[in-house]
Amino acid sequence: MPDALCSSCGSCGFPMRAPEDFAGSRLDSPYCSTCARPSGQLLPFDEVLAANAAYLAREQGLHPDAAERMALALLLSMPAWRDTRAERHPASIPARRPGS
Ligand SMILES: [Zn+2]
Repeated sequence: MPDALCSSCGSCGFPMRAPEDFAGSRLDSPYCSTCARPSGQLLPFDEVLAANAAYLAREQGLHPDAAERMALALLLSMPAWRDTRAERHPASIPARRPGS
């Protein structure tokens, strides 16, 4: 196994260095504190997407729409969302609200 302190989030790619970067501050968590609950359970895709889009908009000053597109492309390239990729395509963000 690679050094846990050199790992990055399997959901968003965020480099996790400090214990508080890990979900629940547990160094064996594969996900960061943004993408997973303290229990280590991965959050729903829409919540992770919203959190990452908000982060990009805030940190890089992106327009919210651009930030969401960037976050969507990023997440869909990550192993945690391999199955989600078949349903979502970065080129066509669905306008519908799922499970209305
Ligand atoms: Zn993450």
